[in-house]
Amino acid sequence: MEDATSDCERPPSGSEGRRRWFPKVSDAEWNDWRWQFRNRISSLDDLARLVTVAKDELAVLTEVLRDFKMAVTPYYFSLIDPSDPNDPIRRQAVPSADEYLYRNIGDDDPLHEEALSPVPGLTHRYPDRVLMVVTNVCAMYCRHCTRKRIMCESAASEADIDRMIAYVAATRTVRDVIVSGGDPFTMATERIERILRRLRAIPHVEVIRVGTRTPCTLPQRIDNALCDMLQKYHPIWVNVQFNHPKECTPEAAAACDRLLRAGIPVNNQSVLLKGVNDDPRTMKELIHGLMRMRVRPYYLFQCDPVRGAEHFRTPVARGIEIVGALRGYTSGLAVPTYVIDAPGGGGKVPIGPQYLLCSDPKEGRTILRGYDGRIFEYFDPQSLSGAALAGVASEEAAQTGAGQASAAGVAAEKSDAGSAADVGRAKPRKAAATKACR
Ligand code: SF4
Repeated sequence: MEDATSDCERPPSGSEGRRRWFPKVSDAEWNDWRWQFRNRISSLDDLARLVTVAKDELAVLTEVLRDFKMAVTPYYFSLIDPSDPNDPIRRQAVPSADEYLYRNIGDDDPLHEEALSPVPGLTHRYPDRVLMVVTNVCAMYCRHCTRKRIMCESAASEADIDRMIAYVAATRTVRDVIVSGGDPFTMATERIERILRRLRAIPHVEVIRVGTRTPCTLPQRIDNALCDMLQKYHPIWVNVQFNHPKECTPEAAAACDRLLRAGIPVNNQSVLLKGVNDDPRTMKELIHGLMRMRVRPYYLFQCDPVRGAEHFRTPVARGIEIVGALRGYTSGLAVPTYVIDAPGGGGKVPIGPQYLLCSDPKEGRTILRGYDGRIFEYFDPQSLSGAALAGVASEEAAQTGAGQASAAGVAAEKSDAGSAADVGRAKPRKAAATKACR
């Protein structure tokens, strides 16, 4: 197992990349999310102006872009280290020949979101929750995205939104609505508000969660106007996606801070990605970076078998190893739950190292493995018989009635002969040499 205990490094912001690639951009432009959005690197020509793209690579990437869109904000692009061909930011943002190589492997909709969709754009998988895809637009099109199939620049129509909201209103079991996409925060604040206001007016909707990657890819979007609007519709939760410690920049931290100050809990849902974060050390730096930003590491998702993203997938054993290298070696609060989204829409299945070695319910005995490999025997609670309490009462009565024995004498008697209470008293069960449960 790799060492995950090294000190975390604070990652630099993208200021060097900004100076290198966008030297003429003013602060006002750079900090304006609309400027960032308008100036996304979204074509191979844009890309070739910034980094070297070999001619043969260009031909393959042209094919990739026929299938899967590209867009990267200047901010996120500025985090790339141009001297590292395997830079984790670049791997997530810039199309690669692997997407062409693996174009026929995987599923367009591995989670069967469309099959579980009672109305277009809404997925109803769990009894009390629904997912609303309110837009197909993202600030950045992540190369590993589960919804690569809907990478295009369109928001759901007003009629689609009407149908989704009508479904939620008519389905009284729904208490939690996830507003996602695409990325809802690419929409105008007023449009987001129209959706939230209507959802909040539905009495059985208790919680609204927004899924967004903008705090990571376009942190400028988390402005005061957005936060002021969001906090009118509490309880609002925000789920974000940071996958590498380099993404935990001062800009991202400030964006998360603005959300948190608006009373919005921010939880992170990382994706385990080969060549990005599939080693314990990187993952530990990431979760510590998140904790410093007061963002809770919530889930670590096994990368879905989505078409065009096979090169990002890792064996399940790798994820188990990574989580095993975190649990016990850092605060439990920082350890995300590693989950596989079961193929075919089965929902999230939590997995991890095996800490429960065996359990014998008859004997009330469990064998556990501690985080460091030591083995422990643990017993279920013992239940004492009510007869033991009755024994105490009659013994007390007999003593009071006789009125002869001294207190010291009674104590000695109880100690020597063993009282009724002793019968039921919990006897510590010694942890015998550990044996497997029957
Ligand atoms: S921001 Fe989310 S929905 Fe958009 S491309 Fe990235 S992972 Fe997919």
